[in-house]
Amino acid sequence: AAKESGRSTFCVYQPEMRLEAERRHLLTAELRDALAKNQFELFYQPIMQLADNTLSGFEALIRWRHPQRGLVAPLEFIPIAEETGLIVPIGEWVLREACRAAASWPPHLKIAVNLSVCQFRHTSLLSSVVSALDEKGLQPHRLEIEITESVFLADVEQSLPLLKALKELGVRIAIDDFGTGYSSFSYLRAFAFDKIKLDRSFVAGIETDPGNLAIVRAVVGIGSGFNATTLAEGIETEGQLQKLRDEGFGEVQGYLLGKPQPLSYAEALIYGGGQGWGDAPATAGERM
Ligand code: C2E
Ligand code: MG
Ligand code: MG
Ligand code: MG
Repeated sequence: AAKESGRSTFCVYQPEMRLEAERRHLLTAELRDALAKNQFELFYQPIMQLADNTLSGFEALIRWRHPQRGLVAPLEFIPIAEETGLIVPIGEWVLREACRAAASWPPHLKIAVNLSVCQFRHTSLLSSVVSALDEKGLQPHRLEIEITESVFLADVEQSLPLLKALKELGVRIAIDDFGTGYSSFSYLRAFAFDKIKLDRSFVAGIETDPGNLAIVRAVVGIGSGFNATTLAEGIETEGQLQKLRDEGFGEVQGYLLGKPQPLSYAEALIYGGGQGWGDAPATAGERM
């Protein structure tokens, strides 16, 4: 990871993501253009609370509607946006757009937004969050910020006070992709996360792999010990859903419950007759 604290360029420089100079140059110009031309879009993936099978909110996931290439997935442009610092204005757009959408929903529904480690290097993060909430009229506890352990790896002295300040605002903080990368128990002790999102790689084999089941049980224990909600990502089968329910997980998210979809589909799920999950347009519409 880069050491130039406070600098936005080469923020999470990773050699394997390095594109050849020319392509990178073009993509950077295109990304800048995309922001100006409003080509970014948020898709929303539903999150279900297991205790009562109700919708607890959505995770906002960015898409780039490219005029020629169509819908572009975040992993194809977020790394370069991080490398060039463009993630900061893009991230600010995401925050405002997610808060705008959620402010019109029933007040029990939350919105989860992914933040890049680069945004933590920028002193403007706290004020960006405050102004997005104020401007859109969203109560802080309805916003959940998802971070990965890279935030701790990069610069703890700067990240930890920022996380604490966000929490003091009333914003909820989730650790994403838990169990992968360098995530470690010490981060759980260092910061009081409101939610632990178990990475989908541990969910995949849960029905057959005793090791994955042991991990799931350990995470349930950690969640209750640290007073954090537990969420399992990437639920694709009824069997996985049942298992996680049996083990006492708090929330689930995955293609079984609903893929990330445009705002209109999220709103159809929210307002669709109020009969609950069964009426979700789970197979309708544009997806990715
Ligand atoms: P993430 O935050 O861990 O998001 C979950 C990813 O898993 C999403 O991919 C989602 O579509 C996918 N997913 C959800 N359920 C299932 C399932 O049942 N099976 C499978 N196979 N996949 C599932 P997506 O939308 O392509 O996003 C990838 C990553 O890009 C995200 O991972 C997040 O790290 C990043 N990202 C997305 N939106 C933003 C954003 O607005 N800002 C930043 N900084 N990063 C973002
Ligand atoms: Mg996430
Ligand atoms: Mg995740
Ligand atoms: Mg992930």
